[in-house]
Amino acid sequence: MPRRKPLRLILGDQLNENHSWFKHPDKHVTYVLMEIRQETDYVTHHIQKIAAFFAAMRAFAERLREQGHRVVYLKLDDPQNRQTIADNITDLLRQKKFTHFEYLLPDEHRLDLQLRKLAETLPVPVQAVDTQHFLTERQELKEFFAGKKRYLMESFYRWMRKRYDILMDKDKPFGGKWNYDQKNRQAYDHQVAVPQPLFFDNDVSDIVKTIRKKKVATIGEIQPAKLIWPTTRAQSLDLLKSFVDDFLPAFGTYQDAMTGANWYLFHSRLSFALNTKILHPLEVIEAAIKAWEKKSSKIEIQQIEGFVRQILGWREYMRGIYWTLMPDLAAMNYFDHQAALPEFYWTGETLMSCQRAAIGQSLMHAYAHHIQRLMVTGNFALLAGVDPVAVDEWYLGIYIDAIQWVELPNTRAMSQFADGGQVATKPYISSAKYIHSMSDYCDTCEYDWKRRHGDMACPFNSLYWDFFNRHRRRLQKNPRVGMMYRTWDRMDSGEKKRVLKQAGAYRKNVNHL
Ligand SMILES: Cc1cc2nc3c(=O)[nH]c(=O)nc-3n(C[C@H](O)[C@H](O)[C@H](O)COP(=O)(O)OP(=O)(O)OC[C@H]3O[C@@H](n4cnc5c(N)ncnc54)[C@H](O)[C@@H]3O)c2cc1C
Ligand code: SF4
Repeated sequence: MPRRKPLRLILGDQLNENHSWFKHPDKHVTYVLMEIRQETDYVTHHIQKIAAFFAAMRAFAERLREQGHRVVYLKLDDPQNRQTIADNITDLLRQKKFTHFEYLLPDEHRLDLQLRKLAETLPVPVQAVDTQHFLTERQELKEFFAGKKRYLMESFYRWMRKRYDILMDKDKPFGGKWNYDQKNRQAYDHQVAVPQPLFFDNDVSDIVKTIRKKKVATIGEIQPAKLIWPTTRAQSLDLLKSFVDDFLPAFGTYQDAMTGANWYLFHSRLSFALNTKILHPLEVIEAAIKAWEKKSSKIEIQQIEGFVRQILGWREYMRGIYWTLMPDLAAMNYFDHQAALPEFYWTGETLMSCQRAAIGQSLMHAYAHHIQRLMVTGNFALLAGVDPVAVDEWYLGIYIDAIQWVELPNTRAMSQFADGGQVATKPYISSAKYIHSMSDYCDTCEYDWKRRHGDMACPFNSLYWDFFNRHRRRLQKNPRVGMMYRTWDRMDSGEKKRVLKQAGAYRKNVNHL
């Protein structure tokens, strides 16, 4: 019998060094990683995102080689690179006479389909293997909520806490409460100084040169000699340590806060390391819990619970939602929104100080934290009636951590309510009042956060009421928004007219706000 000689594919977000594949080097097994136009071009990505992915993939390939594994690495400009997974795999199988093709299960529906289709055409046996990264299986959330109309994150989260015995006191939540969300909503009051962040100085000049030479369309800024994102496991572990030592003690308190003075506040900036699978979610949770146990006098329960909820709860929940609702999710548009994405999303050039800050830092650092994504850029896009396809493309391109399995449920379901409320119980929209209470953006804004109409009235205010007015049929029966209709109905008819007129003018002039 001829010797088994498999070719194993590793995608750019599958850099899990601790996967059982890599336990023992085997000279008959070859791994392949590839930088391909198929992936650089399916949306317009931030330049830092492409550079960070390629740098992390190159470092991973190098690490495997050091450990004695055989690796084929196709750079973007390698002449033999055919620029799609299918063409490269087909070529390699033919040229090197591999006997089997094996791949790690992709997390995106698009790639899942593509690889399954490819498998049908290949002349060798094909096997798909788990990535050994997530804490739930693809279909588990669907099974957990079988027969239910809504997928409530809180019940899923409690189940995960019990299942993994995290922050539990026998069968009760540690501290007596499952959730300290009420204590996670403080504006930044400068009472705690933001610690010195750990940024890396990764030199990705070569990669950037190739991206430019190959004319890959990108957005955003980069300092090629100083990419701040972690691209190796050692750097990712250092970032984790810096977070649990210095940032965790105030993480929960200021989780929803926004300030023009600082773009990351107490957030971990671990999403790239997590989403590329360089770090495992359980090791991140365990590191945080260990730090909390060691310094429980300094780290209150709401800090650690707030952090655990994001990873054990939200992250796994979003993945489950993705596999439950795909492929339909990618076409949902509950409000039938059709407007184009305002041009300032690509430039940050707007008089709205909150948008300028959130978009500006996204272009500069490929990063905005959750509340900026949800309550500034997402909120505005929903109020302005932007087509969710355009909103998705923007989020999928601009963020360092954007991969469809996590971007789409967050954007389309959570932020744009395009699923009609299967995930969120009400649309995440607000007037200027919320942004004013959670940030200092309004202090420096040319718009007046208190005005609904008239000279320099904040656009969020009139668009907010206009949204409720336009979508009355779809929303007024929702018990969580009924009160807003009662307020609107009580408003003087002249005032209502002025608000709607203002909103109409803003929507017409949306590119120049
Ligand atoms: C419209 C919109 C789009 C988003 N797109 C993405 C995306 O493409 N990729 C992505 O990883 N996250 C996305 N998120 C979730 C969240 O904003 C980011 O995970 C977070 O900002 C990453 O920064 P951080 O690592 O500093 O997070 P921290 O605030 O430090 O949180 C720790 C970790 O918790 C996880 N987490 C927190 N919130 C969520 C959430 N809602 N869903 C999934 N995981 C979560 C992340 O892994 C994160 O690294 C999106 C949120 C919104 C509202
Ligand atoms: S006034 Fe309005 S536009 Fe300006 S920062 Fe506040 S919420 Fe944003």
